[in-house]
Amino acid sequence: MKVFGSSGVRGLANDELTPGFALQVATAAGDVFGADRVAVARDTRGTGEMFVDAVSSGLASVGADVDRLGIVPTPGLQAYCEREGVPGVVVTASHNPPAYNGIKLVGSDGTELTRDRLDTVEERLDSESTRADWHQVGTGRRVESARRHYREQLLAAVDREAIAGADLTVALDPGHGAGALTSPALFRELGCSVLSVNAQPDGRFPGRDPEPVAETLGDLRRLVETTHADLGVAHDGDADRAIFVDETGSVVEGDAALAALAAAELDAGDVVVSAVNASQRLVDVADAAGADLHLTAIGSTNLITAIRDLQADRYRVPIAGEGNGGIMFPDYRVSRDGAYTAARFCELLLDRSASEIAAAHGGYHNVRRKVGYDDEGERAAMLSAVGAFASSADAAVDTTDGYRLDYGDAWVLARPSGTEPVVRVYAEAREGDRAEDLAASMVDAIQSA
Ligand code: MG
Repeated sequence: MKVFGSSGVRGLANDELTPGFALQVATAAGDVFGADRVAVARDTRGTGEMFVDAVSSGLASVGADVDRLGIVPTPGLQAYCEREGVPGVVVTASHNPPAYNGIKLVGSDGTELTRDRLDTVEERLDSESTRADWHQVGTGRRVESARRHYREQLLAAVDREAIAGADLTVALDPGHGAGALTSPALFRELGCSVLSVNAQPDGRFPGRDPEPVAETLGDLRRLVETTHADLGVAHDGDADRAIFVDETGSVVEGDAALAALAAAELDAGDVVVSAVNASQRLVDVADAAGADLHLTAIGSTNLITAIRDLQADRYRVPIAGEGNGGIMFPDYRVSRDGAYTAARFCELLLDRSASEIAAAHGGYHNVRRKVGYDDEGERAAMLSAVGAFASSADAAVDTTDGYRLDYGDAWVLARPSGTEPVVRVYAEAREGDRAEDLAASMVDAIQSA
């Protein structure tokens, strides 16, 4: 079984994910890190302290001193790791409900571990770790400055004067997560007038679910509408994501925000990295810039691994991300960062409103279908039918994760679900009929199997 999914270890706290298992993971990770010192941070969840204690014990047992940063956004821990040159562990379940928790591992360069290093940690889980002698176990210390340093680094990396000069009112919804302790201060320091909702750190997430999606952002939308704010910003539990609300109170689709940020960032010859469900909006933006779109399997670990490989081959990858608000600017750091992404979005507001930005990348139609199967034989037959359909189609075919067919003006993707006995079909085009037709012909092909 894969212990590390596409976003680390995740599970129901004290049920699927126990302190004992967290200790095991941290011990194996500490062994693989081989570092004298490791940083540990968490989001606001009530089970966080318990897991931080377990993780710290595991790290100390293999001889690592532990810097306990307290409640810090995941990108804040990553900034600390990068600056100090130490690896790190974040206790967070990101956007999952309050009952969950999880563990993410970060290297001493500040980026999440890539697939092969996670595999090494997994292998180590099954073997004996090298425990330190009694007089060489690690010690712990509290570090209070990580949040301040995180803000300072971020302020130095954006166009602070221009943002301040735009006289923006920003409404923040950190969703009771770790961003509650950093984003309000940060946007004030950027010269914005700041309003906030759900901005008390609270691991029960009383105001809304940690996942920033249209259904959970009613409070933020009302706040923006009633106060005439220029922009609403919502984070997930560990604040590595940002979802925006425009000045009319409408949620900006994550794909439109990514496309707008990419349009501002991409030059000819650049590569933008996204997942196989990447929007046609991003395809169009990459085309217009003369940039290439590189697709990976869904999940940030896969994107990070691809960015690293492309950079090693000397490609410039100025932006990468998915439509869920998780966006990376690899020249800044190869990590998703909700506050940095929001600050960069503010830079776009100097000459346009948020609704104008959304409209420039809006008007696309998405269609989703699913086809159920009864057994493995039926599933295999369906996938080979998809393969035959793909090879006869007048489209560029990508088989990274299922089959994605890019027609230039539209795309269709068929991939088996990881959780249900269904093959999912997604299609997107500027014209609604075109998306419907593409999805229908893929479904027909699957059902003919
Ligand atoms: Mg997250």
